[in-house]
This record gives sequence, C-alpha cells and structure tokens, in this order.
Amino acid sequence: MILRNLPLLFLALLQLAPVVSPQNRILGFTPASATQEAKVEEKFKAVPTPAEERRQHRIFTAEPHLAGSKRNNDLARYIAGEWRKQGLEDVVIHRYDVYATAPKTASMEMIAPVAYRASLREAVYPADPDTKNPRVSSAWTGMSISGEVTAPVVYAHSGNPEDYDLLRKQGIDVKGKIVLVRYSNPYSYRGFKALTAEREGAAAILIYSDPAEDGFKKGKVFPDGPWGPESHIQRGAITYDFMVPGDPLTPGWASVPGAKRIPLEQAVSAPKIMALPLSYQDARPLLENLGGARAPDDWQGGLPIEYHLGGEQVRVHLKIEMDNSIKPYYVVEGRIRGAELPDEWVVLGNHRDAWVFGGVDPSSGTASMMEMTRALGQLKKQGMRPRRTLIVCSWDGEEVGLTGSTEWGEQFADALRKKAVAYLNVDESTSGSNFDGSAVASLAPMLVEATRTLQDPSGKSLYEAWKQTSAHNREESKDDRPVTDANLADTRIGSGSDHTVFLNYVGMPVIGLGFEGPYGVYHSMYDDFYWMNHFGDPGYRYHTLMSQLWGVLALRLANADLLPFDFASYADNVRQFVAELSKGKDMSALDLKPVIESIDAFEASGKNLDDSLQRALAAGKVDAKTAAEINAGMMQVERNWLNPDGIPGRPWFKHILYGARFTYAHLELPGLTEAVEKKDWPTAKPQAEILRKCLEKNTELVNRLSAQLDGK
Ligand SMILES: [Zn+2]
Repeated sequence: MILRNLPLLFLALLQLAPVVSPQNRILGFTPASATQEAKVEEKFKAVPTPAEERRQHRIFTAEPHLAGSKRNNDLARYIAGEWRKQGLEDVVIHRYDVYATAPKTASMEMIAPVAYRASLREAVYPADPDTKNPRVSSAWTGMSISGEVTAPVVYAHSGNPEDYDLLRKQGIDVKGKIVLVRYSNPYSYRGFKALTAEREGAAAILIYSDPAEDGFKKGKVFPDGPWGPESHIQRGAITYDFMVPGDPLTPGWASVPGAKRIPLEQAVSAPKIMALPLSYQDARPLLENLGGARAPDDWQGGLPIEYHLGGEQVRVHLKIEMDNSIKPYYVVEGRIRGAELPDEWVVLGNHRDAWVFGGVDPSSGTASMMEMTRALGQLKKQGMRPRRTLIVCSWDGEEVGLTGSTEWGEQFADALRKKAVAYLNVDESTSGSNFDGSAVASLAPMLVEATRTLQDPSGKSLYEAWKQTSAHNREESKDDRPVTDANLADTRIGSGSDHTVFLNYVGMPVIGLGFEGPYGVYHSMYDDFYWMNHFGDPGYRYHTLMSQLWGVLALRLANADLLPFDFASYADNVRQFVAELSKGKDMSALDLKPVIESIDAFEASGKNLDDSLQRALAAGKVDAKTAAEINAGMMQVERNWLNPDGIPGRPWFKHILYGARFTYAHLELPGLTEAVEKKDWPTAKPQAEILRKCLEKNTELVNRLSAQLDGK
C-alpha cells in the first residue's frame, strides 16, 4: 500500500531505509517512533481493569445527577480531585452561568370521555434497589415552558411534518390542541417534534414511548431484559440546538460569569411550547379512547389496540410548572502537558450530566474516561509524557443543549483553531458489545488501524469484531456495500453529542466511539447500575476496552511524528457526498462539474501527500522544524472547511461538509444539500461555489505541504 505511487528513483532509495515490518508501522510514525509507541501503548493498555471500571461506574450511577443539580456539581469536584491524584495537570473547573431547566410540578389528567390521572412515575422493582431512590424525578421535559391547558388530543404519529400533512388531508387541524406523538425508530430528536408541533400551532406536545420502538415488541423488558417496561419514561430536552447549541441566551459566545445575554424572547433555540414525556402505561388510556378515524397502518403501534387519530373525544388537562432559570454548569478540564509540543492539543471529552442515574448515558463513558485518565497518569508517572498536550474534559449540560462543551468550545475557539489536532468524544461508552466508530473522513484510516491492535472480549481483534458487526448491520439495513477498510468507519457525522461545537464551529476533526446493544431504557430511571450489570456489560470488559481504545487513539495523535491525516480518503468521501446529493434528482439547473473536478484535484494532491508523508517517515527522521510546519498545515485543512457565514439560516454551523438535520441525523454538504432539496437554485449555486473554493484552497495547501516534504 505504501508503495502505491512511488517513483522508481525512490524505490531504489527505499532499499537503504530501515525494514518496515507490520509491528513497527503506525500511520504517522517513523519505524523507530512506532516501536517506541507500541511499547508505550502496551504499558497503557495494561492499566485499566474491569473492577476499577465497575467501581467508578457505581460512583457515578449511585444518585441521579442532572445538569445543575448539587449531585452533578459534587461529581465535578470528585472528578477534579481524582484527576489530581491520578497525575493530571492544570486541573480546573470552569463555570458557565447558563439558562438551565428543571422541573417543579407536572400533571396530566384525561377529563373526557373517562377520567384518568397519569402517574408520571416509573415502577419500583425490588430486584433493583436504585429504583426505590426517592430523588428520582417524575416525567418532565427539559426546556418545556410552564403553562396550563385543557384541550382535545390528536395522535400525530412521529410528529414529523409529513404526519401533520396527513392529518390535514383527514380534515384534522391541531391548532390549540394537544398532540400525542411517539418516539421514533430510527431516532428522531424530540426537539424537532416539539418545534414542528409549535409551528403547527399545537397547545402542547406529549411524547410517549411505544412498545414497538423500545418495549416488549423488541424483547424481554426490565428487570428481566434490556427493553423498556410499561412505566419507563424517556425524559429529554427539546432545546432547538439544531439552530444553535449551548446556552440559548449566549448564541455564539461563552456564558462566562457576567457575559451579555439576549432576552429569552429572542432566543431561537428556546422552545415556546409545553411538552411532557409519557410512558406507554400513561399514554394507553388516551390512545384507547381517542376515537375519530382509524390511524393508517404504519401509524399503528405495539399496543394490542387499534390506534385512532382522535381530535374530539379525548380531552386532557395538562399543567406544567418549570424552574427554567440561570444556573451554573461546570466543565472540568485536566491536562497532561506535552513534553515536546505543548501547544499542539489533543482534546478528549465525555459529558457527566444524566437524566437520572445515567447507567449507559453517560456514566458508562464517564467510567471509561476515569480509567483512561488513570492509565495516562500512570504513564506520566513512569516518565512517558506524550509529545503533544492531552486535554480531557468532563462536560456538563450535554443533555440540555450540548451546553457545557459548546460554551467551552466558544470560549477557547481561537486557541483551539490554532492548536487543536482533533477531538475524541465518548458519550455512551457501552450498551452492548457491538462497536460503532465514527470519524471525520481524514481520521477514518487511523481509527481503523488502531482497532487492529486491540483485543475484543470475544477473542478476536477489535478490528475483526467491528467488521463482523458492520457486515451484520449492513445486512439488516439492506446496505449491499461489502465491508472494507475504506468504509468500515462511519464518516457520516450528525449531531446530538459534544463533538458538535468542535466539528461544526471550531473546525476540528472528530472521532466518536461506542459499544452498542439492545437498549430500551434510554433516559429512563432503569438506565442504571443494575441494567449495566445484568444486560449492558456485566463484566465491564467493554468499558475496559473503551478506555484502552480511547487512550490509544489519543496517544497516537499525541505522539505521531507527522499527524495521521488522510486527505485522499477525505476527497473520496466528499465525492460520495456529492454523488448522493445528486442521486435521483434533476440537477440540470446546477452545474456540479467544477466541484467534481476540484474533488479530483484534491484527491490527487491528497495521494501525493500520503506518499510524501510515507517516504519521509520511512526515511526514519523528520527534522523538527519541517514536522512542525507540515503538522500545522495539516491541522489547517479542517479549518479550511469552515465558512465564516455559516450554512444558510444557521450561521453558527460553519462546516460546509458536515452538518445535521433538525432531527440530529447526519447531513453532508449541509448548505448545498438543503438548497438542492428545496430546489432553491439561487442558494445552491453560491453554496456549490463555496465548496469548490474550499476544495481549491485545500488542494493548494496540501500541494505545498508535499512539495515542502519532498524538499522542492
Ligand atoms: Zn449522552
């Protein structure tokens, strides 16, 4: 593979270079550095243990720890203290005063045709003592407004715009009514359901968990299985963070104490509708009595009843009182200062806040982070300080609106744009044994490579296990692409976690990691320690593997001689994005040929740079000054995908290759794609031109780097 495009002259030279065996070849490393790196990684991987993962997991899942709560703030101090003991440096707790959300009271009563008062509580199971915890909240939705309404109920399926179109065709208007919608599979962010209901003029939205999606229709339910029981409630926020994430009152700047704030009425990400989640136990009496026309077949759910559209018969009295006010959120930051390049940063993060106990989301990730930092601390104590600086962060308020990471990213955006190599996110570390790795296309090859050196608990390498999972998933989703190294990592990156500010606002390459499995208790009280010990990861072996993988990736990015970016791979992905954009559409109004030619040019320059990098590395040493310049140039490539004006209508989202839909689903070439989907050619044309210019800029940059490496 390395020899792909080598000139003959160089082939002769290569014979003089040291023999490169698979053991001492790592993307971005000279053979000697790779041998050293392999030793460091062996020492690192030996530190995390399942017993310690479990011990940390218990600490984080012992109590509910909502963003803004005393418990979550205590955990911030706990993490800071542990990190200092582990040997991390410059440990600080950053405070952000943000528009926060918490419940006061909520009630939902059906007053006609029969009386029913929703419990809004989750059932206690003696097998799991944590379910008795009196501090568990009842049903509530983050960022709902307070209010009181009595109105008829309409069933609006998933609550997407096309669902309301169907209702309209049936003569049903939801204005002033309460819409009852279900969580959907595949996942669609509840904030989009709320915004859609708000735009339709609904008085309130009730979002319930249908057993077809995460309950008994899937398999055994808690406490006998991993799926959601009758009373489980999927809490969650409805913040319109797809417009702008973070504190709604400081869009685009940090909520440091004393920061200026916009009035709530002007905050585009603050919802203006009442919202409440329901278990299917509480939704069922409504569904059974709805009346009206029978809902279409694909609107029928998993309950053994006939679903109707409603609109007249069922009347509900809904009352919600919220405590939405300014509160401090805390981000914990710790570092291991780089020995040689302290001003080049590799950033790692996980959110700390949970809806309740956060067994999977996020405390599995928090446990993996604590073991990873312990192992990094051990290396440092043994004199193995990374070349670059590692920065580790425990985010707050991710669940509310990606709040802590966004505020921190906005606060340090200038420094990050100068210094940051990449961001590695772990939100849910483990809900099962199936690995899912995503990466910006330039980092996909190094992610795939790293999984070859890790041992999956199944006995295979993580790489082999990943390929198997991936093949299985593709079969299930009727995706007939064969699994190859080039397409193993998921390079389609949506939103919904803390990588968002780094990718879309700062312009940093990102990687996301997780192990997945059957998981029907998301954001409910049953997502807890018991669930993890019986279903998710009973032996904590996948937690341990996550600590190892996360750390190995961080160490490779921190220690590489020349950063392991692959821009030919990036170009190939952009070509696919453009092909998908045009697929099945009449594109006669938009000439994409100049864009496609620019992609070809970028790919050719990327291949050249790959070859130049490999030659320089194989030759055994790169002088420090050249390496610094080449690395700075490679870091600039991701920044060059930013358009300072942002994508049309969403100026905060500046990345032109990666974005997310309002549902959080990935959206490639966001500005261009949205314009093409709307057949808005006057917007699409300049968006295509912006893309072409960015490709051209990066082609020139990458060509310059190759020339410099080749000594031309
Ligand atoms: Zn999470």
